[in-house]
Amino acid sequence: MEYKLSDYKTEVHNDWCPGCGDFGILNSIQMSLSDLKIPPHDVALFSGIGCSGKTPHFIHTYGIHTLHGRVLPFAQGAKLSNPNLKIIAVGGDGDGLGIGSGHFVNAGRRNVNMTYIIYNNGVYGLTKGQAAPTLKLGMKTKSLPQPNMNDSINPISLAIISGFTFIARGYSYDIKHLKDVIKKGILHNGLSYIDVLQPCPTYNDINTKEWYQSYEIDKEDSSKKIPKIYKLDEENYNGFVSDENEIPHKISLAIEKSREWEKRIPIGIFYQNDKAITYEERIENRIENYLSNPPAKQIINDKEGYTIANIDNLLDKLKTV
Ligand code: SF4
Repeated sequence: MEYKLSDYKTEVHNDWCPGCGDFGILNSIQMSLSDLKIPPHDVALFSGIGCSGKTPHFIHTYGIHTLHGRVLPFAQGAKLSNPNLKIIAVGGDGDGLGIGSGHFVNAGRRNVNMTYIIYNNGVYGLTKGQAAPTLKLGMKTKSLPQPNMNDSINPISLAIISGFTFIARGYSYDIKHLKDVIKKGILHNGLSYIDVLQPCPTYNDINTKEWYQSYEIDKEDSSKKIPKIYKLDEENYNGFVSDENEIPHKISLAIEKSREWEKRIPIGIFYQNDKAITYEERIENRIENYLSNPPAKQIINDKEGYTIANIDNLLDKLKTV
């Protein structure tokens, strides 16, 4: 069956603020799934708590709106239970890099084959604009009584050192580019992280659409305009690991790039390592037939609904490892 873009949309009323960057991310996810022709019933979309948490309500796939900071445990659990599903987890920077930061780091250690998208706007939008972990030190948005006293987290660097194997950034108003990045993240065999710069016009009056889309006049050639946002691949940046020996160099290159901010901001793929073993492959190495007969396909109850699950064999196997 051919699926159209409209097949990935729901009728649920969307109450995000007018002009919110979330709309661009929502459209990009729907377009990515449609372009890749992934049947809606093969996708499970998980969200945490925040404005972004409503995303699964608007996308016609399996949708699970979970708890604050806990989206990754839910999403990883679903993938390990049914490795045939395409799993996408979404959340805000407050959700994933504040209360959820421990899960973020530990997800990197596992490299489960799924995609995590953070809507990065620097504020806790749903609760009236408090400073979130990506807001820079000293910034005072209109929602704050005083400038931010905490230094910010660099999510790209954190993802790299945590072990994510595909790390990219998009901008919510460049839907074509963001869609392409999301598609590559979904196709990557391993844990992909996509940081999306997402203006929150209601509470963050500094990192606005106008700010991200501003230009500077080139000091050496006044006829040239230098855009604040630029695409990594257009400047011949290559974060792809083609040989394991390249990993340290590519990691330091990506971290260096991720530190660029204010004057110029890169978007695109910072780092990609297709060769790292996934968590599912590690389990398959330990439990025979795990991938062909994963937990979600096993019969777990009798006709009366009582459990027939027997984990003795599994425990015996684990004892021998
Ligand atoms: Fe978007 Fe900000 Fe409104 Fe939330 S509060 S819906 S992030 S504009």
